[in-house]
Amino acid sequence: MRILFLIMAGLGVLIASPSSAFAKVNVFACEAEWAALAQEIGGDLVDVTSATNARQDVHHLRAKPSLLAAMRKADLVFCTGASLEVGWLPILLKKAGGPDVQMETVGSVMASDYVEKLEIMQKVDRSMGHVHPEGNPHIQLDPANIKIVAEVLADRLFIIDQANAAAYNQNLENFKQKWAAATQRWKAEKASLKGKKVVVYHNSWAYLLKWLGIKAVASLEPKPGLPPTASHLDEVLKTVQGQNVSAILVAPFENEDAAQWLTEKAGIPIVRLPFTVGGNDNADDLISLFDNTLSRLKDAP
Ligand SMILES: [Zn+2]
Repeated sequence: MRILFLIMAGLGVLIASPSSAFAKVNVFACEAEWAALAQEIGGDLVDVTSATNARQDVHHLRAKPSLLAAMRKADLVFCTGASLEVGWLPILLKKAGGPDVQMETVGSVMASDYVEKLEIMQKVDRSMGHVHPEGNPHIQLDPANIKIVAEVLADRLFIIDQANAAAYNQNLENFKQKWAAATQRWKAEKASLKGKKVVVYHNSWAYLLKWLGIKAVASLEPKPGLPPTASHLDEVLKTVQGQNVSAILVAPFENEDAAQWLTEKAGIPIVRLPFTVGGNDNADDLISLFDNTLSRLKDAP
């Protein structure tokens, strides 16, 4: 009787251990904001690799060997989608992704599939530049979107690592509480920004600006993904003259030359926003990303 009991107890340990004690869920995140969110919801139960950092332009990346290695061990691929990573993610998935992380499987979360996208295009042709037909993919700078994606991510982790579902649920609840308090604080802070006007480099800020009630009056890019030209910059200069434009918004990876030119001609300051987690020294997690973004915008005249 006693022996049988010990055997049964031993079996219990054997069955429970592979998923709970040893194997962490390997998360392959395409962008720093999703890596940060995976860390929030996954805690100690996940190993997160971010394919890019804040100083890289995610539109353009090479499928280099270190990314193939990270993809090879991935249990969950967590990216933006909406064609943002179209130049490199499909190659990584094809060459190194297992069957359980391919598109539209449980191990694939494309964050932009779950939020309401801005700028969805009815018709796209090559003359429009490097546009995203499924809508603007730069969804991470609206706090409501982060909350939605956090819940989707937790749902997937429940399925992939059922043994730890309670822990993921607790992490999700903690995150949601923290996020709700921060969102409340931002709501008060953002009031003073409403109605301001800015110039952007690329249309990276659509969700942020909509959330804040700020208007983008011009882009330095003549068309999405195309570098600024002299004739286009002349147009931008004409557009901003006579308008009270507060700032030229530039992401960490964007070239400052055209913005500098416009600053000299029109006296509008350049404001470099972090864009994602790690975009500057003060934006080291999702909450400080928004804190720092708001404080930089508020410092603009
Ligand atoms: Zn873009």
